[in-house]
Amino acid sequence: MLRMHDIHKSFGDLAVLKGIDVEVRRGEVLAIIGPSGSGKSTLLRCINKLETIDSGSIEIEGEFLADTDENGVAEYADVKKAREILSHTGMVFQQFNLFPHMTVLENLIEAPIQVKGMKKAEILPYAKELLEKVGLADRADYYPSQLSGGQQQRVAIARALCMKPDIMLFDEPTSALDPELTGEVLKTMRELAEERMTMVVVTHEMAFAREAASQVIFMADGTIVEQGEPEAFFAHPKEERTKAFLQNML
Ligand code: ATP
Ligand code: MG
Repeated sequence: MLRMHDIHKSFGDLAVLKGIDVEVRRGEVLAIIGPSGSGKSTLLRCINKLETIDSGSIEIEGEFLADTDENGVAEYADVKKAREILSHTGMVFQQFNLFPHMTVLENLIEAPIQVKGMKKAEILPYAKELLEKVGLADRADYYPSQLSGGQQQRVAIARALCMKPDIMLFDEPTSALDPELTGEVLKTMRELAEERMTMVVVTHEMAFAREAASQVIFMADGTIVEQGEPEAFFAHPKEERTKAFLQNML
C-alpha cells in the first residue's frame, strides 16, 4: 500500500506539488495523467526518493518514508530504514536506463546480487522466468544496443521485477517508443495489472488508463484536479480542465 498525504514540493521559487493526496491499495493500478509540467514525474520521483518532499507524508507498505515534523517540515527515515522501505518499490523510466555494458540477463541479476547480496545461482532461475514472462527468453545474452526500444523497455520492467517489489512505478514507459512498439510494452503492463501488481503509472496512453487502471488522477499545475474510477472519469469528467485535456488527447 502507498499513501501520500499533503505533499508539497518546490524547486526554488517554483511550487511543483501543492498539497497532493494519493492512496493506492494493494493490487490497484493508479494512472496519473495531465499536461506537461504539471508535476507528474516529480510526484513519482518523490515516491522513491529520487526527489525529496518539503512537507507531507509518504507511507509505503505501512512504514513512513517521510512524515511531517512539528515544524511542518518533512522528516525522512534514516538511510538504512529508507533503503529497506524503498526496497518495496521498483521503477521504470521513459528512457530505459539499462546498463549498456551488460547483457540482458546480467542487467536483471545485477541489483539482486549487489543490493540484496543474493547468490547468482539463487537469482538466475527467477531472472530467466521473468525474461520468459516478458517474452524475451531468447534474448538473455544480447546487449541492450542489440534490442529494439520495446524489447529494452520490457527488459527494464523485468529488471525492476527481479527485485521483487510490491509496488511498481512507471513514468511514461512508452513515450520514447515508436508507435508500433508501444503495444508490446503495454501488454506486459496489462499482464502485471491482471496479476494484481500494485502499480502507479504516469501515462499518455488513455486506452491503457481506461482499461487497466482502477483509479485515474488528472493533475494540473501541481494539484489533483480530478480523480475517479476510469469508467466514470472518462465518460463523465466533471471539471472543465479535465474535459479540455481529454478532448485534446482523444
Ligand atoms: P511531462 O509530461 O512533460 O513529463 P511532468 O508532469 O512530468 O511533465 P515534471 O517533470 O514533474 O512535470 O515537472 C514539473 C515542473 O517542475 C516543471 O515546471 C519542471 O520544469 C520543474 N522541474 C522538474 N524537475 C526539476 C528540477 N530538478 N529542478 C528545477 N525544476 C524542476
Ligand atoms: Mg514527466
